Amino acid sequence: MNPTDPPQHRVGVVVEAPQHSGLWAPLDYLSPQPLSPGSLVRVPLGRRTVTGMVWALAAPADDGAAYAGELKPVAEVLADLPPLPDDWRALVAFAAQYYQRSLGEMALMVLPPELRELDATQWQRRLKRLHKRLASGEGLDPEAASPPSSPSLTPQQAQALDRLADGPAQPHLLWGSTGSGKTEVYLRQTERVLQAGGQVLMMVPEINLTPQLEARVAARFAGRRIVSLHSGLTPAQRLQGWLMAHLGHADIVLGTRLAIFTPLPRLGLIVVDEEHDPSYKQQDGARYSARDLAVYRGRQRQVPVLLGSATPSLETWHNALPVAEGGAGRYGLLAMPARVGDGQMPAVRVLDLSREPKPPRGESAPPLASPLLAAITERIERGEQSLVLLNRRGYAPVLHCGDCGWKSGCPHCSAWRVFHKADRTLRCHHCGYTERVPRACPDCGNQDIAPVGRGTERLEEQLAEALPGARIGRIDADVTRHKGALEAQLASVHAGEVDVLVGTQMVAKGHDFRRITLVAAVNPDAALFASDFRAAERQFALLMQAAGRAGRDAQVAGHSEMWLQTWHPTHALYQSLRQYDYAGFAAQQLKERAMAGLPPHASLAMLRAEGKTQAAAQGFLQAALQAAQDHLASTGEASPLALYPPVPTPVQRVANIERAQALIESAHRLALQRLLQHLQPVWLAQAQEHRRNGLLRWAVDVDPLAI
Ligand code: ADP
Ligand code: ZN
Ligand code: ZN
Repeated sequence: MNPTDPPQHRVGVVVEAPQHSGLWAPLDYLSPQPLSPGSLVRVPLGRRTVTGMVWALAAPADDGAAYAGELKPVAEVLADLPPLPDDWRALVAFAAQYYQRSLGEMALMVLPPELRELDATQWQRRLKRLHKRLASGEGLDPEAASPPSSPSLTPQQAQALDRLADGPAQPHLLWGSTGSGKTEVYLRQTERVLQAGGQVLMMVPEINLTPQLEARVAARFAGRRIVSLHSGLTPAQRLQGWLMAHLGHADIVLGTRLAIFTPLPRLGLIVVDEEHDPSYKQQDGARYSARDLAVYRGRQRQVPVLLGSATPSLETWHNALPVAEGGAGRYGLLAMPARVGDGQMPAVRVLDLSREPKPPRGESAPPLASPLLAAITERIERGEQSLVLLNRRGYAPVLHCGDCGWKSGCPHCSAWRVFHKADRTLRCHHCGYTERVPRACPDCGNQDIAPVGRGTERLEEQLAEALPGARIGRIDADVTRHKGALEAQLASVHAGEVDVLVGTQMVAKGHDFRRITLVAAVNPDAALFASDFRAAERQFALLMQAAGRAGRDAQVAGHSEMWLQTWHPTHALYQSLRQYDYAGFAAQQLKERAMAGLPPHASLAMLRAEGKTQAAAQGFLQAALQAAQDHLASTGEASPLALYPPVPTPVQRVANIERAQALIESAHRLALQRLLQHLQPVWLAQAQEHRRNGLLRWAVDVDPLAI
């Protein structure tokens, strides 16, 4: 360095680098001016210039001389963006460490995409436009100066709110069935926080559900700035909403799981609606749980977290249950057992399929047994609606040749391709590989290849045959692929243009149907014997939620029903559901989990690997587990930890890539975290080694949803 050169500041910058690059720690750069941690900068990386975040300040000018030759200067700074605050960086650092991802990936992934992509000039232009919009008062609704008055509280709502007001700033489980008035509690608590000058973060599991909550929030808090944050927005909208939150202009931020990473300087409350919903857990890349991070953030910022559900996750339930009742007693428990007004949950009818007459030889059983069909017919005659649930889309899960045994397998995956009749295709739901349905069996030429099993598309067709004249509608991921299609379909249901609505779990969530008086689950047994340890929990939640769709209107609630077609009428899940006894169901599940050493009584991490062959994928896992074993042996910490041998994943080949996994289980979360921290660099190095023999991708899934 030349003595006449200006002094240089050394800054540590995190960049978004792929996991296998091994760039986990901040990289050092030089800057002529001091930069605060949390500032966004553009830095040279290889031959590119990328956006990074100043993470740490290294020692200042004095050692600059030693590094001047090696360190590159920061290319530019995204000026006029207040640095991301300490608490935000602590949240990101925690998430990166807990979920085993690099700091840079975590920090940059959760920013609005435009922030990562704009250079300093583009950024200045964007900022100018945003300021203009903010100054013009966009986002405020001048019309509604006086918001509609809120209903007077039911006793159980009042009690929940009292306890929230008096209680410590801790997580609370708001446990109440659909229609018990949970949303009203969110709104009242939000009102308190806004009045005290705070910001509120409200999370919903799915984009599809944001418009409904948004409408209610907007109506109640007219005159306040409300922003939405989810992946369905344009990049410019997302940046604007995020900036409004970060600059402290937004009062309420409403969003899906990624909203948990919104910087909120005046945060006063976090609401997680339907906290049990699996979509709070990211299922690729950094597999974080937004629900769990909400709890972390609440503790970090000393603000209450309101977790709402009729069927809480067993983790949350265990945390909320008092110690005297076998729980951990860590959260407040606010119970609201009754529905608002006269609304009752529908009566549960368990239809025993083994008592139904057998179909004639060679014919398959009708999709709905005759008593259920009769009950639906009755509804149609009365001008009421029915909802028929089947959790499988497409026409039939597989096509089959009766002559030679050919089945419509996917050439790239170890899975069947689903027959979609509407466009006569065979589609792989794993890799997307799509072909037209062959006219004849590709193996033997037989013209008579037949669909086996049933999806929503076929159910819709069969119901149209069984209920002549009835108007059948369908809602699933196929029907709603196009923008606006879901809204249109829902509107026609609300308008009474549909008598029977066929749908997947998509319709069971959140939608407020007034005229539905019958909900039927056609094949709920599928989940009873699934290998996934959470299958029963998820099924119970889904059926409860579906039941909540019926009888929302007090006028028709009296005779509304929930039908279950089953071969196992005495199964404990259905017996609990009959009484809507979530607590009983949870107690029995928790007992089973304790015996099996599963969450919430144990912590899990799933080590996953992908390669060209099973041997390659499992070879890496084998080595990784060996390293874990060696480490545990050397520390004598092995006792609370169990390492299970690698196995192929349930669908072991997808798009010609073989997948395998190995489970690590620990009675203590901390012991598991310590092990993972220690092994992270070891596994990185091992993966580098194994990659020499060909493709290898790997990742750790901490607190996996399924094993
Ligand atoms: P949840 O969120 O538990 O499903 P909601 O808050 O949506 O329940 O309430 C269900 C219905 O009852 C809604 O139509 C809501 O407007 C109404 N409601 C909620 N609280 C009250 C109340 N205290 N008085 C009258 N109606 C209420
Ligand atoms: Zn054939
Ligand atoms: Zn495939």
